[in-house]
Amino acid sequence: MHQGRCVNLLEQPLDRIRQWLASFDTIISDCDGVIWLGDNVIEGAVDTMRQLKRLGKQIYLCTNNSTRTRQQLYEKAHNMGFDIDADHIISSSYATAAYLKARNFQKKVYVIGTAGITDELEAVGIKHTGVGPDIMSGRLTAYIKSGFRPDTDIGAVVVGFDVHFSFCKMIKASVYLSDPKCLFLATNIDERFPITGMVIPDAGSIVRTVQTCTAREPVVIGKPNRSICEWLIKSGRIEPARTLMIGDCCGSDILLGRNCGFQTLLVGTGVNQLSDVNVWKKSCDPEDKKLVPDVYLPRLADLLALI
Ligand SMILES: [Mg+2]
Repeated sequence: MHQGRCVNLLEQPLDRIRQWLASFDTIISDCDGVIWLGDNVIEGAVDTMRQLKRLGKQIYLCTNNSTRTRQQLYEKAHNMGFDIDADHIISSSYATAAYLKARNFQKKVYVIGTAGITDELEAVGIKHTGVGPDIMSGRLTAYIKSGFRPDTDIGAVVVGFDVHFSFCKMIKASVYLSDPKCLFLATNIDERFPITGMVIPDAGSIVRTVQTCTAREPVVIGKPNRSICEWLIKSGRIEPARTLMIGDCCGSDILLGRNCGFQTLLVGTGVNQLSDVNVWKKSCDPEDKKLVPDVYLPRLADLLALI
């Protein structure tokens, strides 16, 4: 229904809305820009999700944010009032750990990132090198001579958001990735955080740096790549055609929906607005067309009046 047409649900007759509501039984919702903005819940989001659950929809939350574990995300959602099952949280750090576990990874991971990643690795029994500051105190020549001895047990480099990203970390990642057998995973490739008046680089900017100095392409786990939802689809817990992806960012959320065969709903409380979609609608580039959602609502809470 409405595939790739960006139909405004508020302009639809009630019977079409009912038909649309009956066409999915699973909802996968992005978090930031849809149900919360930073630490503030978006007005009406809790009541809307509660009502959708009452209607029998199973609800998952899906975020590219690798700085929190699933448990921490669950607690954040729970404290805001969302009635979400703990195992219905999908995060890029969890999916990264699951990706390695599914491939029976036995070696150690060099991590550029935060405890959000290392805690998830530990939870599935995967060793890692830890996180935190790693800076060069002396001269580069001295560092090359004696400052770093590669760990021969490293079998993967995982890159995510890291406020302590440094030249030393670039060197280490590059040395490990010079072995073609060493895996290169990126939790997500979002370029920056959507914070008004400030530009905060996100994981994608760090990933790009490592790509440049290693001349290697990472396996990207986070949205819009299927990997983040693959375990859900493969285990049969969700049926893609009867799943609705809700998001505020077309390049990650709506494209993920497209890549997984989900239906898609864009809400205008975050990154993208209808004006962006109208540009893509008119574009001749098929890649732009993939960014156009099936349906649109200004706010998630607008659903409440329709259901
Ligand atoms: Mg978002």
